[in-house]
Amino acid sequence: MSDSSFNAFEMAQAQFDRIADLLELDSGTRDLLRNPMREYHFNIPVRMDDNTVKVFQGFRVQHNDARGPGKGGIRFHPMETINTVRALSMWMTWKCATVDIPLGGSKGGVICDPHNLSQREQELICRGWVRQIARDIGPLRDIPAPDIMTNAQHMLWMLDEYETIHGAKFPGTITGKPLGMGGSLGRTEATGFGVVYTIREALKVLGIDPGTTSAAVQGFGNVAQYAIKLYQQLGGKVVCVSSWDQAEQTSFTFRKLDGINLDELLGITNRFGGINKTKAAELGYDVLNGDEWIDQDVEILIPAALENQITGDNVNRIANQVKIIAEGANGPTTPEADEVINERGIYMIPDTLANAGGVTCSYFEQVQCNMNYYWSKEEALTKLDQQMTSGFTSVNDLSRKKKLPMRDAAYVIAVNRVANACRDRGWV
Ligand code: GLU
Repeated sequence: MSDSSFNAFEMAQAQFDRIADLLELDSGTRDLLRNPMREYHFNIPVRMDDNTVKVFQGFRVQHNDARGPGKGGIRFHPMETINTVRALSMWMTWKCATVDIPLGGSKGGVICDPHNLSQREQELICRGWVRQIARDIGPLRDIPAPDIMTNAQHMLWMLDEYETIHGAKFPGTITGKPLGMGGSLGRTEATGFGVVYTIREALKVLGIDPGTTSAAVQGFGNVAQYAIKLYQQLGGKVVCVSSWDQAEQTSFTFRKLDGINLDELLGITNRFGGINKTKAAELGYDVLNGDEWIDQDVEILIPAALENQITGDNVNRIANQVKIIAEGANGPTTPEADEVINERGIYMIPDTLANAGGVTCSYFEQVQCNMNYYWSKEEALTKLDQQMTSGFTSVNDLSRKKKLPMRDAAYVIAVNRVANACRDRGWV
C-alpha cells in the first residue's frame, strides 16, 4: 500500500509458488491454493453528515476454507486495494494453519480514511459493509475481526447489523468485540503479546538474554503498543518507534537511545497511533525520518505497520547487530529482501507465525461465545502463549531439521496442512 506499484498479491503468490515447488504440489492443488476461492466487491452508499451521499468501495476475499470457516480482519484504509486484500486473505489461510487453529483464511476492506470520518459515518460504513455481505459471512462461514484502523466498536456495529438482518444472536460471527459484548479478555493485547512470545522463544534458541537486547519498532498502533509493553516487561529496551503523521502525510521515527517510555508516548498519541511531534521533541525524543527505524543499532527489529516495508532498496541498511526480525505486520518483507536477510543469517520470525496471536485469540473468543462462558484474562493469555509457543517450536524444529529459512518452514507446515485438507475433502 505504501508504494502504488507494489502488488501484495503477486508477492503472496511468489511466496506460495516457492513452497509449491519445494513440496512438488500437483497443478490442481497449486491452482486452487494460489488464488482465492471467492471474492466479493461491492459499493456502500453512505449519507454523510453534510447530507451528501458518498459511495465507498468494500471487499471481502475468502481465500480458502478447507480447514474451517474463513477468518480474517477488515481494514479501513484510503489506499486499500483488492490485491492487498487478496494477499492478506491468503496470508490468513497460512497463519491459521501455521498455529494449527481450525479456521481458513479471509480478509476484508473498505477504501476510506477514518481520520476524516465522524463516528456516525463510520458506523454507517460498518453497517453498510455487513448489509452487502450478510449472506456470505457467519460463524460457520466466515468470521471478520479488526485490523488496521478498525476496532472493537466497529465490530459491534457490524455484529448488531448482522444480528438484525438474521433475527437472532450470533456472537461468534465477529471477533474482537468489546468486553461484555462477547469479546475475549486478552484480545486487545493478543497480537502484540504473541509477537513477543515468539521473540522470547527465538532468543532462547539463540541463547540470548532478553535483558541484554534492544529493539526498534516500526508503527505505534495496537500491535506495536502491546509488543513494546511485553518486551519491556521481559527486560528489553525499545529505542525507537515510528508513526504516521496525518497532517504531513508521512511517517516519523521517535527515538530515545536510553529507551522510550511507553506511557509517556501514549499520552501524546491519537487514537490511530499518530504521535505528536512537537510534544515528543519537548519530551526529549529525536524526531527522525520515518524510515530510520530500520538502521538502528539494535538486536531486534519489529516491523508492525504495513506490508512492503523491508525491500531490496533498504534491506542493506539493517545494522550488523540485528539478530532477529519479528514481523508484527502482515507482509512487511519482500522476497528480494528476504533473500538478503537469509544470507546474512538473521533469524526471521515470519508474519504468519509472529502475528498469529490476534487470530488465535479470536478463535478463543469464538470458543467462549459458543459456550457463553468467558475465561479470565490469565486463562486466555496462558492458552495464547501455549498455542504460539507450540507453533513456534514446530516451525523452528522444521527449519533446523531441513535447514530451511523460518518463513519457508512455516509455509511448508501451513501449505501441507491446507493441501491435505483439500485432498481429504476430495477437492483436489
Ligand atoms: N487482523 C488480524 C490478523 O491479520 C486478526 C484477524 C482475526 O482475528 O481474525 O491476523
